[in-house]
Amino acid sequence: MVLGYVLTIVGGIVFGGIVNWLADQLPFLGGLDDDEEQETAGHAATAKPQGLTVPRCLKCGARRHILSFLGLTAWCLGKRRCENCESRLPFRHLAVEVVLAAAYCLLWMREGMIPLFWILSFYLTLFVLIAVIDIEHRLVLNIVVFPAFVIVLIEVMLSGRIGMNVALMGYAVGQIVVLGFFLLGGVYLWIVNTARQQPVTEVAFGFGDVTLATLCGLIVGFPDVFQMLVLMILFGGLIAFLYILYRVIIARDYHPHIPIAYGPAILLSAAVMLLWGGL
Ligand SMILES: [Zn+2]
Repeated sequence: MVLGYVLTIVGGIVFGGIVNWLADQLPFLGGLDDDEEQETAGHAATAKPQGLTVPRCLKCGARRHILSFLGLTAWCLGKRRCENCESRLPFRHLAVEVVLAAAYCLLWMREGMIPLFWILSFYLTLFVLIAVIDIEHRLVLNIVVFPAFVIVLIEVMLSGRIGMNVALMGYAVGQIVVLGFFLLGGVYLWIVNTARQQPVTEVAFGFGDVTLATLCGLIVGFPDVFQMLVLMILFGGLIAFLYILYRVIIARDYHPHIPIAYGPAILLSAAVMLLWGGL
């Protein structure tokens, strides 16, 4: 019993470390195009790795000390600062590890060591990875999402968690509904831009969000996908509201059309349906 908790917590920290490593490096794999480069310039490493490499400092690209590979060890053992440029490891590294450790632990308490535990843990880990990259770079990476589609299909086929037809209908509904949102966003941009000098290029709902919602529809299946979409709108509204509140009150630089990452709302609602949908 105790061993189970220890293992899930250690597992959460290790997989959290892997998520952090991927979130640090995947967005720069193969280089970004100019637009993306500008958006992420504040955060980007000056020396960008061309493939996946050992964990590196996000600022200067120097190899991190082995004790700062994991956020937890970096915090606890005082290895937060880069040995080369003194910049600090972002708080996200620790947060992801703690969140995953807690999530695995709670899942283990609820499910025990059955296949569903592994399946749900995998999806939560995947969601955290996609959410971190989306929040930091406003990107939903094909290199993450496309293999995920294949994995979900294999999982559904092998586990029987939901029927294949249920999954595919969830996929179809997710695709059609969010494509509708995406097109509405396009119409909105067109209307706004005909009346503006400086064109707005970014909508709340980008094409990456369409792919992501479709993937999540496939994971939760039909008819849960409908509840997922309703939750998505609610979470999206709530996140946008809190974010705007933050910009107005704390950062004091609010202007309309601040790009807000919609991905986290999609992932949050998919996670809720995955964990509590069948209840
Ligand atoms: Zn550095």
